[in-house]
Amino acid sequence: HDLNSFESINPFTGEKYARFELLKSSELEEVIAKAAEASRKWRKTSLKERLKHIENLAQLLENESEHYGQIITLEMGKPLKEAVAEVKKCALACRYYIEHSTAHLKGRKVSLEPGRQAEIHYEPTGVVLGIMPWNFPFWQVIRFAIPTLVAGNTVLVKHAPNTPRSALMLQQLFIRAGFPQGVYNNIFIHTSQVENLIAKREITGVSLTGSTRAGRAVAALAGRYLKPSVLELGGSNTLLALPDANITKVADQAVNARFMNAGQSCISAKRILVPAEKYDAYTRELTLRIKKLKTGNPLLADTQIGPLARLDLAELAERQVEESLRAGARLVTGGSRSGTLFAPTLLTDVKPGMAAFDEELFAPVAVLISYRNEKEAVNLANNTSYGLGTAIFTNDIERARKLIPKFQDGAVYINEWIHSDPRLPFGGVKDSGYGRELSKEGLLSFVNIKTVVVN
Ligand code: NAP
Repeated sequence: HDLNSFESINPFTGEKYARFELLKSSELEEVIAKAAEASRKWRKTSLKERLKHIENLAQLLENESEHYGQIITLEMGKPLKEAVAEVKKCALACRYYIEHSTAHLKGRKVSLEPGRQAEIHYEPTGVVLGIMPWNFPFWQVIRFAIPTLVAGNTVLVKHAPNTPRSALMLQQLFIRAGFPQGVYNNIFIHTSQVENLIAKREITGVSLTGSTRAGRAVAALAGRYLKPSVLELGGSNTLLALPDANITKVADQAVNARFMNAGQSCISAKRILVPAEKYDAYTRELTLRIKKLKTGNPLLADTQIGPLARLDLAELAERQVEESLRAGARLVTGGSRSGTLFAPTLLTDVKPGMAAFDEELFAPVAVLISYRNEKEAVNLANNTSYGLGTAIFTNDIERARKLIPKFQDGAVYINEWIHSDPRLPFGGVKDSGYGRELSKEGLLSFVNIKTVVVN
């Protein structure tokens, strides 16, 4: 994209339908000043007052989910049904914090000695910068912004360059919900301006959801300027079927877990591990389901796989599939591409050392891997630089429980594919980042934990 503007391009038709100017340096300075000024007032408002605005926002998101769903689909191509569900999930996150923030932010008292008391207070820190990706253009922003605002901070949001209309709509939603000016600030800026921003005294933290490459860059800046950071980065989740698992149930779940959002999700089941003796049966069951997936116009109700969000992403996925095939993987179905439309694909005989195993594949490509015993399964699951989550399928819950500590991951789900839930902390280890969003942990990511002793 050029250096002065962001464009909305419909990934299904290729049509460029909106263009947004980037902020000039002087305009960015003004936004920062306003956000800092707003932060001085916002931190003094009562929690009840803040939650009133969150309630308004939740209502708007619920009532207008179709409208905002369309905006998402036109801009990044996910099927409309999924886009509408994304907007509704944003309302759920609002509702979670409306219900639980009072308890989560209450702090606590500690009796030290007779006549000597301590208290732990959670105070806002200032203005927090969020840097967000395009794959869940509403959900990622809401997941960052709501708890950060509830805690009494104001936010600057630098969204991905290919979802500027979603970015602007979010800003309008916060204004319509009655948030005071300067509390939520969308900033159209180029990545090169991020350092200048993080360096500013007014900016008291940074949260990034995106690739590991971007995470490393922002973590380095956060380190240089000593700003707390939360990083939600890439993933290569394992879906592990133990030998006793029900094959049709696993196949159903694996297809959901892999093909949602055309595979463009950090927690997508990117590596499906099944026992060698069941490999052919799994190949058959997965193929059946993958061949039935309907690909095409994401605005149509029966479309299950829309286009990838950008042409370069489709080209990258094609390269990763080709490299894996050259390295010995087998193409069972799919593999072809027409522009941004990537045919739902199944690769088998995938092994470490192949792109489909080692790299994050952000496309509708299921990758089937066989293991001979439990030890090998755990080793394969951990044989990745990423660590977001593993899903285990079995009827033997006790056996699965014993495996939990062996996975180097931020989450283990048993008999369920991994998805985020406002009630549960979300985040990773290793190259998937650090820190947690959502739940109580997310609310405490950008607070000053102030220790008070009264004698
Ligand atoms: P991306 O290219 O890393 O971009 C994410 C955001 O970071 C964009 O706003 C991008 O802006 C910005 N950015 C990139 N390089 C930067 C730098 N050096 N300094 C400051 N900002 C920078 O990722 P994406 O392609 O949009 O998103 C896909 C990735 O996000 C995947 O790896 C996926 O797994 C991950 N993800 C993780 C989670 C999670 O919760 N763990 C959730 C969703 C997605 P520019 O493009 O303008 O540089």
